[in-house]
Amino acid sequence: MKLTILGCHSATPRINTNPTSQVLEIKNHIFLIDCGEGTQVELRRNKVKFNRIKHIFISHLHGDHYFGLIGLISTFRLLTRETELHIYAPKGLKELVTLQMKLANSWTNYQLIFHELTSHEPELIFEDEKVAVYTIPLDHRIYTNGFLFKEKPGLRKLDMNAAIEADIDMAYFNKLKQGFDVENNKGKLVKNETVTKDPPEPRSYAFCSDTAYNEKLVNSILGVTALYHESTFLEKHEKLTIPTKHSTAKQAASIAKQANVGTLILGHFSTRYDNLDLFKEEAQTVFKHVELAKDGKVFSF
Ligand SMILES: [Zn+2]
Repeated sequence: MKLTILGCHSATPRINTNPTSQVLEIKNHIFLIDCGEGTQVELRRNKVKFNRIKHIFISHLHGDHYFGLIGLISTFRLLTRETELHIYAPKGLKELVTLQMKLANSWTNYQLIFHELTSHEPELIFEDEKVAVYTIPLDHRIYTNGFLFKEKPGLRKLDMNAAIEADIDMAYFNKLKQGFDVENNKGKLVKNETVTKDPPEPRSYAFCSDTAYNEKLVNSILGVTALYHESTFLEKHEKLTIPTKHSTAKQAASIAKQANVGTLILGHFSTRYDNLDLFKEEAQTVFKHVELAKDGKVFSF
């Protein structure tokens, strides 16, 4: 899994910082998560192939999370895209995008498919044989979802020498990879675990922005490989988290600790702070494995 941060600041775009957007490469997919203003430029800067983006996940309809979307949809059209594009977003986005296109009389020449979200419970919104994506309902000023991206367990690894030694016909190798016991050439049952090894542990990534401190989300993200959790403020501005429904670095770390995640990635920083190292220091008083998001930074896990 490879995560590229395109933008990780709150509110407005600035010369050196962008609002929220990131790209997750998982199995054969390139998923775009949120699409703040400037996303197109950052996609180009980070050499992400536009036509490989087939699914876009929008957390909520505050501008710093989707103002780049209409431009990107329009650019896809100018690039004569033909591949369909799926957008998973709160109800309302379809109306918003189609109104803009209607007034400009500029329709896409590719299929634009909206999956409008309204549920306040986690739900499965995308699935294929290798990956599943679930919503993570968050507690923000308007309807907001985080997203959980999970690899499915892979096939078991065949120990070729052991399989030959056990006198198993090659025709059964696929069955072995799928976890079945099989009969060998002499009609004797061979236990699967004697000739195969466990596949690598499936990895998972949870994106949680924007949200107030919310212990309810712990259950949805238990043990994820990496958690991106917003930390708009430092603890000294904790009072601001109440009207804005955002979190501090310390609160993000507390969620990471309770959910026993692998790595916590902090982001959605308020533009009031110049020294972001303070976020890491504050979070590490609660949870050790903390990284700071940064525009252009790549995380592999
Ligand atoms: Zn917001």
